[in-house]
Amino acid sequence: MAQITIVGDGPGGLSAALFLARSDNEVRVYGTDATVMHFAFLNNYLGIDAISGTDFQTVAKNQVKDSGATLLEQEVESVTIDSGALTVVTATGAHSPDFLVLSEGKAMPLAQSLGIQILAGEDEMVPVDQNGRTSIANVYVIGRSARPTRSQAIISAGDGAATALDILSKIEGREVQDWDSPPKA
Ligand SMILES: Cc1cc2nc3c(=O)[nH]c(=O)nc-3n(C[C@H](O)[C@H](O)[C@H](O)COP(=O)(O)OP(=O)(O)OC[C@H]3O[C@@H](n4cnc5c(N)ncnc54)[C@H](O)[C@@H]3O)c2cc1C
Repeated sequence: MAQITIVGDGPGGLSAALFLARSDNEVRVYGTDATVMHFAFLNNYLGIDAISGTDFQTVAKNQVKDSGATLLEQEVESVTIDSGALTVVTATGAHSPDFLVLSEGKAMPLAQSLGIQILAGEDEMVPVDQNGRTSIANVYVIGRSARPTRSQAIISAGDGAATALDILSKIEGREVQDWDSPPKA
C-alpha cells in the first residue's frame, strides 16, 4: 500500500483523490476550503446542468470522503525532499508520503520551495508532462498551477484524474484504467 498526499482541496486535488482512493492506497487531502470555486457558478461542467461552485465542492468532498480518502482541514506548512524522501509538515506533525500531488491553485509556494522550475511571465506556471509529472520523481503539479491561463474546473479535475492513473500505474507496474460497468441484470 502506498501513501499519497495531496495538497489542495479544489477540483484538481479532489479529483486526484477520488481516483486514488478507489484503489487500495492511503490517500490524504489537505486543504482549507479557500478554493476560488466559491466565486464560481458552473454552466460549463460536462454532465452537470448548472451548479454553484460551493455546492459542487460540497458534493465533491462527500464523494471523495465516501471513496475512502481522508480530508484534513489543515494547511501544509512545508514540503521537503532529502535523498528522494519526501516530508510533509503541518501544524500537527510531519509524515513521509511515497507520492506528493500539489494542486495549490494560482500561487504555488510549495512547488517553488521544492526547487521545481517555475516559468516566469505574466502567468507563472510549472512545466509538467501530460500526467502532471514534474522534474522531481513522485512529485506532481496539477490544475491551475500548471495551466494558469486555462483555469476551468473540468480541466483541473481532468488533470487530477490523469495524475492519479499515472501514480496507480507506477505503483502496480502496469497501465491502469479505472473502468466500471453497469451491474448485470
Ligand atoms: C470569479 C470566478 C469565476 C469562475 N467561474 C468558473 C466557471 O464558471 N467555470 C469553470 O470551469 N471555472 C470557473 N472558475 C475557475 C475555477 O474556479 C478554477 O479553474 C478551479 O477552482 C481550479 O481548481 P484547482 O483545483 O486547480 O485550484 P483551486 O480551486 O484554486 O484550489 C486550490 C486549493 O489548494 C488549497 N491550498 C493551497 N495551498 C495549500 C496548502 N499549503 N495547504 C493546504 N491547502 C492549500 C487552496 O486553499 C485551494 O483550496 C472561476 C474562477 C473565478 C475566480
